[in-house]
Amino acid sequence: MKGNLLLKQNLSFSGRLIKILFSILALFLILGTFSGCRQNTDQTAVEAAKGHMDLRGRSMNNPIPLKGEWEFYWMELLTPSDFRQNIKEPVDYYSVPGIWNGEAVSDGPRPAEGYGTFRITVLVDDPALIYAVKLREVLTAYRLWVNGRELLTAGVVGKNSETSTPRYTSDYSTFTAESGSIELILQISNFDYKDGGLRDVPLLGTEEHIAKQHLNSLILNYILFGALLIMGLYHFSLYGLRREDKSPLYFGIYCLIMTSRILVTNEMQVMEIMPCLSWENHLRVIVLGYYIAAPVFFTYISILYPDEFPKRIIRIMQITGAAFSLVVILSPPALFTKTELIYQLIILAGIVYLIYGLVRAIINRRDQALLLMIGIILISAATINDILYAQYLNTFIPSLVPLGLTLFILFQSYIISARFARAYAIANTDMLTQIPNRRRFMEQSESDFHGAEGSRKPLNVLFMDIDHFKVVNDRYGHDNGDIVLRHFASILESVVKSPDYIGRLGGEEFALMVHGSEERALQIAEEIRRKTGEAVIEAQDYKIQITVSIGISSNQAAGNISLKKLLKSADQCLYRAKENGRNRVELQK
Ligand code: GH3
Ligand code: MG
Ligand code: MG
Repeated sequence: MKGNLLLKQNLSFSGRLIKILFSILALFLILGTFSGCRQNTDQTAVEAAKGHMDLRGRSMNNPIPLKGEWEFYWMELLTPSDFRQNIKEPVDYYSVPGIWNGEAVSDGPRPAEGYGTFRITVLVDDPALIYAVKLREVLTAYRLWVNGRELLTAGVVGKNSETSTPRYTSDYSTFTAESGSIELILQISNFDYKDGGLRDVPLLGTEEHIAKQHLNSLILNYILFGALLIMGLYHFSLYGLRREDKSPLYFGIYCLIMTSRILVTNEMQVMEIMPCLSWENHLRVIVLGYYIAAPVFFTYISILYPDEFPKRIIRIMQITGAAFSLVVILSPPALFTKTELIYQLIILAGIVYLIYGLVRAIINRRDQALLLMIGIILISAATINDILYAQYLNTFIPSLVPLGLTLFILFQSYIISARFARAYAIANTDMLTQIPNRRRFMEQSESDFHGAEGSRKPLNVLFMDIDHFKVVNDRYGHDNGDIVLRHFASILESVVKSPDYIGRLGGEEFALMVHGSEERALQIAEEIRRKTGEAVIEAQDYKIQITVSIGISSNQAAGNISLKKLLKSADQCLYRAKENGRNRVELQK
């Protein structure tokens, strides 16, 4: 239908502009990440074999992931002196990164609870350089020696649940290579978490590059933290301004959950900010993050597309999420970590349902459904990339989730802004005729008029009123009267050209602002009068004919008058047109 023109034009223009801006931003972010990742890790990664890695002849311009086979001594806590006496023959090799439980050993699969020692020897060219090693996501306590010196620890390594104290950190420390050979001995114990071992790969590099990598990672995290925090608060205030739409509320909560996740995962800055945070509570925040984020996000989507997402199913998601979250809050990690797999499966089912609903929303041509789907695909791709990166360093790009999340959040905020723009357009549009309403017309003419005063731009106001409209209603019924009004509005739309604009003032009264000379305004008015008189409007079984009376006032004719006076004068001219027999145009004298 043509009636919706203004609404669509307004939205599509700003929509196009925003889309262009978004594309540019996305391009920058992607370029930034790709150039960043080249700096951050070595693309032609080497792998350790049988506890040895040879980095001689290799540029140390990037931190090198110490990936591959490390010597592994299960259920032994060994120190450098044990190896110095050379009494230890390697008993096993362990592929880093990876968790140790589940792996088949002589007496069945290895449990998550236990301890062990890892060892690797790395050969480098330049013993004079200052090196550094960075450890992240060691499950769940460790002690690291480099060339016999104890370098890093997290928690307390122990042989049973009483002596082992878990702690998550992301840390690096420096050392010199002395003889060109670097020996890393890493004790790990786990009696608290469902997985044990090295979930992330340790990084080795020169102090300069490790420090840079660490700093870049921190900066990226803090930028994301700030951006998400502002996004969250911004959407809360949007909700505060327009309570009838709850989508910004749920999206704001989602942003704040993501904000907290940034601090507790990845570089785990929370440990710097709150050093006394216990491991249990740290883990609780990590787990609660996605336990709550999932139902919140589902609720948000269901508000955007209520027809595609039945309330019943969302209610089930919310109750399940609340129940599982309660378990996390009230039970010890040993118990609540056991619920993770079940809950992840529920989320997976939810995601399948979400995609199904979104596909239907796209088919039903719902606003922004496609954009939302692209956002979800981007963040999913980033997540899958990051999971696979740990396994296949060369094929995938490191750490895409921050970028995916940023784009995703940007997409969402665009979707919410578009909803607001639509609400604004609806508030300014006449329901029946879909042309601008009185409020919009007055707003526009006010800004026009103030502009015109400055530049003496010639403006003309046309007031139009359908003749004997009461009779139309009485004879053909109110419904057919509505059809006549819509038809008249479409005549106006066919005549008006930018920068001129129309509005329905109320009832069967309409207004038109014409820029330019009075002659031009008169021409347009005559055209409207003629087209209206000639039109045969088909309404149900009737063929209805109407006429219109028009009054014109011009700011040139009247000199420097106010908008109020100009409108009043147009109204007087209209009154005169009625008095003088209707179906005519009257100019101000
Ligand atoms: P005149 O030539 O003097 O303008 O006569 P008129 O009958 O058009 O004037 P009047 O202003 O007395 O009547 C306007 C009528 O328009 C009265 C009202 O019922 C009708 N009307 C107002 N709004 C609507 C509407 O949205 N739909 C319909 N069908 N009728 C409406
Ligand atoms: Mg009338
Ligand atoms: Mg009237």
